[in-house]
Amino acid sequence: MDFQPDAGLDIFRQEVRDFLRDNLPADLAGKPSCSIRSALPDLVRWQRILDARGWGAPYWPKEHGGTGWSVLQRLAFDEECVAAGAPTLDGFAHKLLGPVINHFASDGQKAEHLPGIFQATRLWCQGFSEPGSGSDLASLRTRAELDGDHYVVNGQKIWTSYAHQADWIFLLVRTDASARKQAGISFLLVDMKTPGITVRPIHSIDGCHHLNETFFDNVRVPVHNRIGAEGDGWKITKFLLNNEHATAADLPILRRYQQQLRALLRELPAGAERLLEQPGIVLQLVRFEAELDAVAMLVKRVAAMEQAGDHGPAAHALGSVLKVSGTELQQRVTEFMVEVLGDYGAIAYPTPEAMDTTAERLPREELARGIAMEMLFRRASTLYGGTSEVQRGIIAKLLFQL
Ligand SMILES: Cc1cc2nc3c(=O)[nH]c(=O)nc-3n(C[C@H](O)[C@H](O)[C@H](O)COP(=O)(O)OP(=O)(O)OC[C@H]3O[C@@H](n4cnc5c(N)ncnc54)[C@H](O)[C@@H]3O)c2cc1C
Repeated sequence: MDFQPDAGLDIFRQEVRDFLRDNLPADLAGKPSCSIRSALPDLVRWQRILDARGWGAPYWPKEHGGTGWSVLQRLAFDEECVAAGAPTLDGFAHKLLGPVINHFASDGQKAEHLPGIFQATRLWCQGFSEPGSGSDLASLRTRAELDGDHYVVNGQKIWTSYAHQADWIFLLVRTDASARKQAGISFLLVDMKTPGITVRPIHSIDGCHHLNETFFDNVRVPVHNRIGAEGDGWKITKFLLNNEHATAADLPILRRYQQQLRALLRELPAGAERLLEQPGIVLQLVRFEAELDAVAMLVKRVAAMEQAGDHGPAAHALGSVLKVSGTELQQRVTEFMVEVLGDYGAIAYPTPEAMDTTAERLPREELARGIAMEMLFRRASTLYGGTSEVQRGIIAKLLFQL
């Protein structure tokens, strides 16, 4: 693994920075958002600006209409976008479903579903987890029974992020109850307007509504909306979950926290001094930054393995190490930010959608905006995408294969 500076990557980074400087509308930049997705109109507007530049699918290969960027370029793009405060894209479409469609779908399915991702006219959500089937996903019970040229879907999904805003859902269903549990699963694409789908909100601890329960009651789904063959669902899911290991730690977010934390420590008074002048505080900052550097190096290593097409046990184990170390660091640093804010850290600010962004605030209030919510949301980062306990199990198992 080469840790030397990469001049090509620096030039690329500058190109992205210049683009962001010239094209990111001021009213979109730096808006706090609920959890991992920006407000819908902002996301749509930003997606179209990127598409006009030819960057509508920043993570895909050229042959699928993407940019063809390397894993490290994709990471640099994400870092620069987060640093500039650009809205987040529809990650379900870009990072999870898109590669599945590109890899497994028929030409007809590609023609139907890909254009909506480039223009953000079709937003997606992920229907995998069920009550009792989260970590043990293969035990899922939502069933799809064949009736002529349709499946009839019955069951329940849970924790379906953004189901209330999504146009379509990619759904894991059981099509064969008699087969071994992994073998009886299929992968369907379902229009959320289909009769029989009910979405109920789950309000999370950060005060936002991004989670839902999603119910399917005799929902008729055309067979041609199945990706791959019947029973291929588990193979497709493994492909989907194994994609983009290098992004598991969310390094761009950690870098944003680093900037925020440094700003807080610089600005906040502590008696006659600034917080940044207190040795105990500086020690915590340095510890955080050392851990961040370690995560950044690991990201580079995993990215290099991904780029080289190495999908062996070491790459998987390191992906899981990144998930655990990155998300646990997100939790510690957001807790630390709330702590250094003192009284202001405990103030429950309105959610970004409800916030009057034109109102005047005290400087400390302005610094505190969104941080308590971020800390509360990050409680979930060690759960979604595979819990820390499960990741540790994966690491232990894979180490035996090395
Ligand atoms: C904010 C958020 C957003 C989410 N968004 C989506 C989404 O959009 N779509 C979707 O399908 N799902 C989504 N999920 C669900 C997520 O994937 C699951 O929460 C996760 O897989 C864990 O499953 P579970 O909640 O059923 O917990 P369980 O699997 O029931 O686990 C409960 C506890 O037992 C532990 N445990 C379980 N198995 C093991 C094991 N083998 N070894 C050691 N410990 C174990 C877990 O670590 C955990 O602490 C989201 C979750 C959150 C929190």
